[in-house]
Amino acid sequence: LDTSAGSALSSSEGVPDSAARDSRQLTLDIVIPVFNEEEVIHLLLERLAQVFAPDVLAAQGVASVRWVLVDDGSSDATARLLAERIREGVPARLIRLSRNFGHQGAVCAGLDFADADLVAVMDADLQDPPEVVWRMLQAWREGADVAFGQRRRRKGNVVKRVGYWGFYRLVALLSEIDLPLDTGDFCLMDRRVVAAMRRLPENLRFSRGLRAWVGFQQVAVEFDRPARAAGEPKYTWKKLYRLATDGIASMSTRPLQAAQFGSFFFGLLTVMFLFLLLGFSQELGVPRPLLFLYALVATGNAVLSFCLYILGAYVGRTYLEVKGRPPYLVMEFVEPRRPGPPSPA
Ligand code: UDP
Ligand code: MG
Repeated sequence: LDTSAGSALSSSEGVPDSAARDSRQLTLDIVIPVFNEEEVIHLLLERLAQVFAPDVLAAQGVASVRWVLVDDGSSDATARLLAERIREGVPARLIRLSRNFGHQGAVCAGLDFADADLVAVMDADLQDPPEVVWRMLQAWREGADVAFGQRRRRKGNVVKRVGYWGFYRLVALLSEIDLPLDTGDFCLMDRRVVAAMRRLPENLRFSRGLRAWVGFQQVAVEFDRPARAAGEPKYTWKKLYRLATDGIASMSTRPLQAAQFGSFFFGLLTVMFLFLLLGFSQELGVPRPLLFLYALVATGNAVLSFCLYILGAYVGRTYLEVKGRPPYLVMEFVEPRRPGPPSPA
């Protein structure tokens, strides 16, 4: 019997194994993007040391933990403070980006440089309470590959709160995939999910959308989002606008489709109106030159509208192609055990 085909199939290349969920040798990386957070760093490191103290780690069955700090081109003392604390023995790795690439770029860098069994992502300002990670770990032990934070209540600027509320609903409405509401980048992911996210080569990254896109077993963990521990928000209105438009455009081509069907419908309407006018020109007493002029404009309009429709069809597909997302991702292979070599009688 030829088993070579079977062995080729069973190679689960590109699908790293999930760490054993009952293992007590788990490693945990916590990705934290930081941008001009000098006021908050000491609070953050203190709180992390508390929540992930050696005895708690042992009780939770985690062998080691490390903070993967991504300095997103800070211009204050952030990087220096972090480097000092690491020299003092804080279990962290600092990745300094060459300039400010924005929160999403920093999260992406952190995921690229994390290599533990489980990877969490959280903000530096303690708005994502670190202790929630333990509830996320519980969800992972129960079979989830992704446990993402979902906020029950939100504190802070009213305009921003309303803005975020509307934004999540709009993106979810437009998105072609199921996007959970009120979830940011705060989450805990199995390394298989991180590997899957790394396989998406697009440059405009909307991390929480990509995380939903890759699939696997996803579970929401509810939490109340407190106010920032110290310092000012680092998201300016300009950066929020970028996040919103990147989020919508990266998760959906529906606005383009709407424009497409709008132009198609409008073109159709002009043609119908032209026939109506031609049919009733006597009764309406429309002068011939005017009729001729309208026919010219209407035909031009209809032709342009249909051209736009066709352009839209190609532009949309081009956009989806250049994002270079794989057409599918494998979660696991299940197949019968391959018969071993015949044992001597
Ligand atoms: N951040 C970043 N680069 C930026 C802006 C923000 O790395 O250009 C980080 C910031 O240090 C924080 C997280 O992203 O850890 C969230 O930022 P912020 O608290 O300002 O956002 P908000 O909570 O207001 O949405
Ligand atoms: Mg914040």
